Amino acid sequence: MTKQADVVVIGGGITGTAILHELAKYNLRAVLVEQEPELAAGTTKANSAILHAGFDAPTGSMKARMNVAGNAMYHDLKDELDLDIRWSGSYVAALDDEQMAVLQELLERGNANGVPGLKIISGDEMRKEEPNVSKDIKGALWAPTAGICWPFGLALAFAENAVINGAEVIRECQVTGITVEDGAVKAVETDKGTIETKYVINAAGVHADEISRLAGDDSFQIHPRRGEYILFDKTAQKDLVYSPIFPTPTKMGKGILVCATTHGNVFVGPNAQDMPDSEKDDTAVTIPGMDDILDKARRLVPNIPVGATITEFVGVRAVSSTGDFILGPSEKTKGLIQAAGIQSPGLTSAPAIAKYLVDGIVAETGAAAKTDYKKGRPAQPCFRMMAEADQKALIAKDPRYGRVICRCETITEGEIVDAIHRPVGARTVDGVKRRTRAGMGRCQGGFCGPRVTQILSRELNIPVTEVRKEMRNSYMFYDKESGGKA
Ligand SMILES: Cc1cc2nc3c(=O)[nH]c(=O)nc-3n(C[C@H](O)[C@H](O)[C@H](O)COP(=O)(O)OP(=O)(O)OC[C@H]3O[C@@H](n4cnc5c(N)ncnc54)[C@H](O)[C@@H]3O)c2cc1C
Repeated sequence: MTKQADVVVIGGGITGTAILHELAKYNLRAVLVEQEPELAAGTTKANSAILHAGFDAPTGSMKARMNVAGNAMYHDLKDELDLDIRWSGSYVAALDDEQMAVLQELLERGNANGVPGLKIISGDEMRKEEPNVSKDIKGALWAPTAGICWPFGLALAFAENAVINGAEVIRECQVTGITVEDGAVKAVETDKGTIETKYVINAAGVHADEISRLAGDDSFQIHPRRGEYILFDKTAQKDLVYSPIFPTPTKMGKGILVCATTHGNVFVGPNAQDMPDSEKDDTAVTIPGMDDILDKARRLVPNIPVGATITEFVGVRAVSSTGDFILGPSEKTKGLIQAAGIQSPGLTSAPAIAKYLVDGIVAETGAAAKTDYKKGRPAQPCFRMMAEADQKALIAKDPRYGRVICRCETITEGEIVDAIHRPVGARTVDGVKRRTRAGMGRCQGGFCGPRVTQILSRELNIPVTEVRKEMRNSYMFYDKESGGKA
């Protein structure tokens, strides 16, 4: 492959996909490259999924600016892109007088950052809204503009809208080099070939420092900091909490929270473990970690439904050596634009980061806005949420909607086929799971996994042995490297 682009975005997480969505509004040839078969395969798939209000980051920092602006932008984007967001508000809970003083600091910082509607309430006021929280909670900071979201769905929506507006997403395409001549970017080298371009946007998550070095800029490092989580079945303690409930923060982060997902599950986490730089992709959970997060979560909500655990997972924060988001043109290499060090609140900040960086490119290139730009994206059928008459009509039109594949979540074959053939379609079993919820229920794919595998094989026209779970080499039935059966 040799191709030409005006801008190449490296990384298909929330940052890269939001940037692609913004680029696609202009007459620019925009290409996003992602090394894995699915988008959001890095930190974007494993985090607390909270659209933060914006009181945590120091006033004046890029984190604070982008957080508050991004949160406001999602209020419009929710309808435009049909995003899975619930504007739940959030609480930071204090257990003693010292922590009450921290709430006051957060309130003042939030006001300075421009966060609307913050107020400190008593423990009793909080318990009226959240009856399952600890009786030891003395007070809380209430942030009405916070929300919860489905991060994979957000990244997918950004990418789908970009693709229907002419941008390109190339998956399973790993960046291996960046050609720089006379101090300026000329091309991106990948394991699929060369893309000639004047602009490269580095949105490679925990690997952003390595990408930057490929282009001759070694001005920052990214250090991995892991966070572990436990997710509970949605049938147990479904109404345990409505809004995210944080402890008061420490210098390591916002602390271990208790939260609901937009799909009705409850989860607890994350802890914070600094790791050596050689272990950026280590996402194994640990037993001490599980004990630690359960212990701390119980201080906020005593009745955590441990017996209903369905899975544990790890997200890795991209902690930057500068302490803030690194955004904008590299001082060393012309045409290299950094979107690096995007740790929390990166999910919330993504649309604001995208606008900030793309505005810069548009100002420099004079690129015109597309006159035929299309808002939105194709509707995603959701059989279980439809009225019975609509379900019957859909089955009459396409009998595949009458065949339930995932019994835990009531997901039909029709929805799975739609997920595979969407503008950025599913290529793996987990790709189907994240688009439809098939495999997200109590059995975690134990029953539907083989049937989803067969459907992927049929629709992608590949042997079942070539169907992967999620990542490039996650073959389930065949050892690709040794060439033999696993
Ligand atoms: C424990 C935890 C909790 C968090 N909670 C929240 C929260 O509640 N709210 C919030 O706003 N933020 C939160 N965050 C932060 C948020 O998740 C991240 O800021 C955000 O997901 C980062 O997205 P990204 O696109 O920059 O990086 P990623 O999602 O990591 O994407 C980078 C992509 O680049 C790809 N890539 C890397 N190298 C290459 C290469 N050589 N070639 C091609 N592709 C490459 C990777 O495969 C990956 O898909 C949390 C983070 C963690 C870890």
